[in-house]
Amino acid sequence: MKRIYLDHAATTAVDREVVQTMIPYFAETFGNASSLHSFGRDAMHALGAARQTVADALGAETGEIFFTSGGTESDNLALKGVETGHIITSLIEHPAILNTCRYLENHGCDVTYLPVDSGGLVDPGNIESAIRNDTKIISIMHANNEIGTIQPIAEIGTIARDNGVLFHTDAVQSFGKTETDLQKMNIDMLSLSSHKIYGPKGVGALYVRDGTEIEPLMHGGGHESGLRSGTENVAGIVGFAKAASLAIERFESDTRHLTNLREMLINGVMDTIDDVHLNGHPTKRLPNNVNLRFDFVEGEAMLLHLDLRGIAVSTGSACSSASKDPSHVLLAIGLAPENIHGSIRFTLGRENTSEDIEYVLGVLPEIVGKLRAISPLVSKGSSRGSSSG
Ligand SMILES: *Cc1c(COP(=O)(O)O)cnc(C)c1O
Repeated sequence: MKRIYLDHAATTAVDREVVQTMIPYFAETFGNASSLHSFGRDAMHALGAARQTVADALGAETGEIFFTSGGTESDNLALKGVETGHIITSLIEHPAILNTCRYLENHGCDVTYLPVDSGGLVDPGNIESAIRNDTKIISIMHANNEIGTIQPIAEIGTIARDNGVLFHTDAVQSFGKTETDLQKMNIDMLSLSSHKIYGPKGVGALYVRDGTEIEPLMHGGGHESGLRSGTENVAGIVGFAKAASLAIERFESDTRHLTNLREMLINGVMDTIDDVHLNGHPTKRLPNNVNLRFDFVEGEAMLLHLDLRGIAVSTGSACSSASKDPSHVLLAIGLAPENIHGSIRFTLGRENTSEDIEYVLGVLPEIVGKLRAISPLVSKGSSRGSSSG
C-alpha cells in the first residue's frame, strides 16, 4: 500500500545526505572529543566544524552555540538556567516550556501565561503590560507546532530589549521554514532540535547570546564550555549540523514547495467537503502546516481511517496523543472541546509531492462522509456530509 507521511511536526526522516555524513563518526572517527590523542582530536575537529556550521546557519558566533539532547533540553536549560523571578510566556507553548514553567512555579518563580487571539497570535502589547520589575525572561515560541502560527518575534524581541528582559524563543518548528534573524529579532536564546529538520533524534542546540548569564543543568566533566557536561554525541551533532546547513541551502525551494502543497491541500479540502474550518492564522502560518476542523467528525476515528489508507496525520500534538485531553493550543484559540475533537493536523515535508496531496484529497471526502453518516453529532434532518461523496 502507498504510505504517505504527513506528520513532519512530530518528526522527520533523516535526510540520506545527513545519514552519509554521520556514518564515519560511529566506527571510524569514534574518539572522545576530550581525549588528547589523535582519535580525540579528530572528534574535536568534527565537533568544532559542526559548531561553526550551526553558528553560520543562525548568524551566530561559535561560542554562542551549545549542543544539547534536543528541543526539550534546550527549552529547560533556557528557563532553568537563568536566574528567574518572573517569567512571561504564552498559553500555547510546547509542553517543554509549559511544564518547565509549572516546575519553576513550584520553586519560587512567578509565571504569566499570556492568551492568544483566535489565530493563535500573542499581542505584543500584552507582553509589554505584563513586564514587572522582577521579570527576568520572556519565552515565546517562534512558530507553533500544532497550528503553525508564526509570532511577531521581532516586535517581542524589541520590547524585551527595551525593558532589559531576556528573550528566549523556541524555534524548533520554525527553523528552515521561516526567516530567523538573531540580531533584528533581538533574540537572546533560541532552541533548536535536529529531528524536526531531517536530522537524527536526540540532538539539538541552545543559542545563548554572548554575555548572557546562564547556569548548567548537567554537572560533570565541563563539556560545552561547562554549560552541558556529558561526552558529546559526535555523530549526532555532525548529522544535526549537516541538516541545519541543508535547511538553509534549501530554504527558498523548500518553502516554495511546501507552500504550494499547503495551499493545494487547504483549497482541495474546502472545495470538496462542507463544514470544514482552518485552525490557526490564515497567513502568518508555517508553510507546511494545515490544521483543519471537520464538524460532526471524531478526529481519532478520522486518523485511524486515514491510517488504514496509509496516510499518517495527527490530532492535537504527538505529545498529547496518549491523553484524551483536548489540545491546550486549540482551547487557547477559543475552540470548544467538541470542535477540538474534530481537528486534524497535516504537516507536510520536503519529500511530499503533489501526487501525495491528490491521493489524500481523493480519500478524504469518502472518509468524512462515512463518519458523518454514523455520527451522533449530526443533528436529525440535517443533510450534512461531504458534498462529493
Ligand atoms: C518537538 C518540539 C520540541 C521538543 O524537541 P525534542 O527534540 O523532541 O525534545 C520542543 N518545541 C517544539 C515547538 C517542538 O515542536
